[in-house]
Amino acid sequence: CYILAVETSCDETSAAVIKNGTEILSNLIASQIETHRAFGGVVPEVASRKHVESITLMLEEAVRQAGIPPERLSAIAVTEGPGLVGALLVGIMAAKSLAFALGKPLIGVHHIAGHIFANRLVQEVLYPSMALVVSGGHTELVLMEREGSFEVLGQTRDDAVGEAYDKVARSLGFPYPGGPFVDKLAGEATEAENLPRAWLEPGSYDFSLSGLKSAVLNAVNQHKMRGEDGYQPAIARGFQESVIEVLVEKAIRAVRATGSRQLLLCGGVAANRGLRTALSERCEKENILLSIPPLTYCTDNAAMIGAAAYLKWKSGEFSTLELKAEASLSLEDWSVKA
Ligand code: ATP
Ligand code: MG
Ligand code: FE
Repeated sequence: CYILAVETSCDETSAAVIKNGTEILSNLIASQIETHRAFGGVVPEVASRKHVESITLMLEEAVRQAGIPPERLSAIAVTEGPGLVGALLVGIMAAKSLAFALGKPLIGVHHIAGHIFANRLVQEVLYPSMALVVSGGHTELVLMEREGSFEVLGQTRDDAVGEAYDKVARSLGFPYPGGPFVDKLAGEATEAENLPRAWLEPGSYDFSLSGLKSAVLNAVNQHKMRGEDGYQPAIARGFQESVIEVLVEKAIRAVRATGSRQLLLCGGVAANRGLRTALSERCEKENILLSIPPLTYCTDNAAMIGAAAYLKWKSGEFSTLELKAEASLSLEDWSVKA
């Protein structure tokens, strides 16, 4: 099975060819970060235009690098949501045209199922499995009771972790996207500012980042008003410690409560060194099998979309040419029919 996959949900244009849901024959990624940096964040109209500029070439190149004649492709997969509607549409239109022209089935893919299945590109997944999704727009604990089923146990009630990192980074004077800068600064810090932890109600698997974000902004303002400098590392460290402590604790509790055989970390913030280290150490201590994809598969890419599409390929659940972009597509509804 050879799936040509397309991803255009945000600011990366990506195309990949995946064999049997696990083997990457090609995976091209064109990032628009440099373009959006000047605006301090992703500008939807600009993102759509950039996708249009590069999508055709990316598709051709992905197929060429894979060394598969287009007629031998088994299906065309594309991210249908969640994401920016205008950006998603570019990938969807391209995928539909190709599926129609080649007479191949079309598979609409949930972006977060893709992030989770980035793990499948590097190893077997054991069920039941627990996924901790930490990305620019999502913070979720997802239970996969069996292959292809997705149940959201908890999610953020306000900001996503990546979003909070970017806002904190901006308040410390870093350019967009600031997550990696905060991560680096936190690693170098010798002290940590004391900041709150958002545990929410006992037993809850939900997250909340907005209180912590406000606490950071207040602390920054106070340091500034007192005319102090050199406070940034301690803030970065304090913020990162608070985020990580809650993420790790809730993820471990979810694994235990559901009898999950494995914990899968995914999403752009899975690149965070503090989080990777803390989660690895804790999982080792608790004897929990942890999977973290290599960095290139943590941020948006089409290979992960091809890996998730394989679930639907196996069950023969194809999309029609009516497939629409869904800004807030439900992950649970995307589950493969039992
Ligand atoms: P979603 O998948 O929810 O639609 P997205 O695809 O835009 O969101 P990703 O590309 O998965 O998000 O991740 C981007 C986010 O990851 C940014 O917010 C970025 O700051 C953050 N990030 C990247 N590296 C790190 C790091 N080392 N530490 C913290 N955050 C990081
Ligand atoms: Mg991105
Ligand atoms: Fe993403």
